[in-house]
Amino acid sequence: MTTRRDLLKQLASSALALPLLSTLDACRTASRGPVLRVALLGLGRYAERVADAMQACTRARITGLISGTPAKLASWGAKYGVPESSRYSYETFDAVRDNPEIDAVYILTPNGLHKDQALRVAKAGKHVLCEKPMAVTAAEGQEMIDACRAAQVQLLVGYRLHLEANTLEVIRMRKAGDFGRMLFFQGQCGYRLAAPPTDWRRNRALAGGGALLDVGIYAINGARYLIGEEPRWVTAEETKMDPGRFGPGLDETINFQLGFPSGAVASCLSTHNMDHLDRFFLDGTRGYAELQPAMSYGPIAGHTQVGPLTREHVTHQTVQLDAMADVILHGKQPEVPIDGEEGLRDLKIIDAIYLAARSGRRVDLT
Ligand code: NDP
Repeated sequence: MTTRRDLLKQLASSALALPLLSTLDACRTASRGPVLRVALLGLGRYAERVADAMQACTRARITGLISGTPAKLASWGAKYGVPESSRYSYETFDAVRDNPEIDAVYILTPNGLHKDQALRVAKAGKHVLCEKPMAVTAAEGQEMIDACRAAQVQLLVGYRLHLEANTLEVIRMRKAGDFGRMLFFQGQCGYRLAAPPTDWRRNRALAGGGALLDVGIYAINGARYLIGEEPRWVTAEETKMDPGRFGPGLDETINFQLGFPSGAVASCLSTHNMDHLDRFFLDGTRGYAELQPAMSYGPIAGHTQVGPLTREHVTHQTVQLDAMADVILHGKQPEVPIDGEEGLRDLKIIDAIYLAARSGRRVDLT
């Protein structure tokens, strides 16, 4: 069968490409219902993965591109069939307001830029899809929520694991009582950051922090969705094995603990200086779940006391963009939320972990 991707490849170099693609999309819309039309903002490494995965989406597609690199606008425009009239720079993208082919803008830039860009997207009256971390502080996250609420647009975060099948199976088992009472979560999230000093992940202003905002957030998020409670307190200790590479404001390694209302606790490691750390372990009075890998692009694998987790792997970003379309177009909420409030919960915990690490004190969460 000829897929949309095959057609795009065949048509990319043809002058007929755009009219034909419009017809194709119109047919698809007519046959399958509405499609969320998305502009990608920031065409970097993760955006490449998202764009590729979106070719298999049935309810979302790329209709706009925003970039600071003109050559990318040209090559991505040709590859994904986005006409020049829907390509923008960072200076011009407020004009998406007047583009009826764009419903939502997906922010895929460095963390420190998310908030200001989200405010501009909301002001342009388009839905905001934003990569994790949604922002770099809870105050920024709250500003984004308020701006989207005022503009009456949705704010959704790229929490792809909230839609992942084996993760959802563990959540289903926990809700069914298969693990008994929750006692303990362990989240180990890290990799050796090989990026050069010029990379935004090594720039405090652009990254907003270090490993905690980049990968530690998966352990925080995992603790919350697997235990199924919101933490009441945090403690944290920061260590640096390589202070030469990780300067002030760029956390290399943080061990943190979360305490939950039921008495369950989480013990987590976040690092930019160790490889092979991609593991969640959940322990209850009657059973356990272990996910490894737990946060990377998958297949997410693992087992519980009753055997291996066997749900089929589907590219995370494909499922995520279709789920985002379901929220925006049909008001259909996923089992684990992916909205701005969910992003804000993680940011409040991140603020508290940084405070606990700096002060050496336990920090209570309200
Ligand atoms: P990249 O550095 O690969 O891409 C970022 C892109 O942002 C650049 O290519 C550039 O695109 C644009 N950009 C705009 N301003 C700047 C600037 N001042 N400095 C650098 N880049 C700029 O980063 P990633 O793709 O790895 O990460 C982007 C976001 O995605 C981050 O928030 C990250 O946390 C998140 N992410 C999420 C993942 C997930 O699994 N959910 C995985 C990886 C990243 P252009 O040239 O088009 O302007």
